[in-house]
Amino acid sequence: MDFNFGPEEESFRAEVRKFIAENKPEKFDAYSGRDQAVLDTWNRKLAEKHWIGFAWPKEEGGGGGSLLEQFILKEEMSAAKAPPLGSDFMGLQWVGPALIRHGTEEQKQRFLPDLLNARSSWCTGYSEPDTGSDLASITTRAVLEDDHYVVNGSKIWTTAAHVSENIFLLVRTTTEDETRESRYGGMTCLLVPMDTPGIEVRPIRSLVGHHSFNQTFFNDVRVPLENRLGAEGEGWRVVMGALANERSGISESTSKERELEALKELARGACKNGRPALEDSLVRGQIAGFETRISAMRLNGMRYLTRQLNGQHPSSETSVNKVISNQLALDMADLAMTLLGSKGQLAGATQFQSLAMHGSVIGGGAPNIQRNIIAERILGLPKD
Ligand SMILES: Cc1cc2nc3c(=O)[nH]c(=O)nc-3n(C[C@H](O)[C@H](O)[C@H](O)COP(=O)(O)OP(=O)(O)OC[C@H]3O[C@@H](n4cnc5c(N)ncnc54)[C@H](O)[C@@H]3O)c2cc1C
Repeated sequence: MDFNFGPEEESFRAEVRKFIAENKPEKFDAYSGRDQAVLDTWNRKLAEKHWIGFAWPKEEGGGGGSLLEQFILKEEMSAAKAPPLGSDFMGLQWVGPALIRHGTEEQKQRFLPDLLNARSSWCTGYSEPDTGSDLASITTRAVLEDDHYVVNGSKIWTTAAHVSENIFLLVRTTTEDETRESRYGGMTCLLVPMDTPGIEVRPIRSLVGHHSFNQTFFNDVRVPLENRLGAEGEGWRVVMGALANERSGISESTSKERELEALKELARGACKNGRPALEDSLVRGQIAGFETRISAMRLNGMRYLTRQLNGQHPSSETSVNKVISNQLALDMADLAMTLLGSKGQLAGATQFQSLAMHGSVIGGGAPNIQRNIIAERILGLPKD
């Protein structure tokens, strides 16, 4: 097995490093203030190089880069603590790929250019007040009346709905009583502008007091037929592909490498038994354990990449890295709080991150559900 990159990839890596050295904003801190003008300039330069949506096909406006080159691009950007590639994580990570796979020409032309030029903002409407893990039991209903769907119901935990332009929405077009197919056959995916009359967004505060979630209500919301993504009844297939892309994004090892660097920095500054905590053998052992798990994630990521290079779309296997990534995040947060000692009671970026992590592991699907996916679909164990 050869884990080395070839000369073409290494030459691309050198190009990325040169770009970062010449263009990375002086001061960019992912957790503190973000200067919009600085980010706009950064995104314009990225868009000129077609590095936003770099691995999307050229005919869809993407960069036509290989998946390996995209991996290198993300790895180098993360190592340099550069701002994100584009402004719309949800849009780029799963809405765009779903549009490329299932969208009509008109939908692609309408939505993809804004994604590639950092002008879009998408949110995701799957979960409902009574439906999370068992997504197939959604009840938000869309009824076709002439050339419009009329949507009624409510979605919850809709991250960023209050600042998004569009929602990637899963609705029920056929109830279980009406369909002769399985319960998965009665769902449909709609692309809905958030300023459509009848949509109401109410904030939900997280346990750290921040407003990122919302409950989103749909009252007789009229959605044109041309905003349906894929055929009626194909929503489950569309959303399963999108969720695999979401999970592979959540579990990228590069972000964990950056978090581990910050943890080492914290251990260097913290004191244990009169010496820097980083010199303590127990702390060193824990940090070495984290490094090992991150390496496993990286190698697993390369395994998914190899499958994609062989023409397969991401699927259940992305749950493996999500489980590793989630547990790692909790264990690293735990060590961070131990290192902070009594300062852990104060407000600060590390304290905030450590608390927020408990919610974040549920986003994209709770850990138990990922374990069930691994057990049933990868290991072939009996159904839960
Ligand atoms: C940070 C964050 C961001 C989110 N963003 C969005 C978003 O933008 N859009 C959106 O639609 N949703 C979003 N969600 C919602 C998220 O997808 C759901 O919270 C998640 O799927 C779990 O659903 P639930 O909250 O209804 O919990 P439940 O499904 O009620 O689960 C509760 C507990 O029971 C366990 N459980 C449930 N079923 C089983 C089973 N069959 N076997 C074993 N254990 C089980 C779960 O693991 C969990 O521990 C977000 C959530 C978080 C925390």
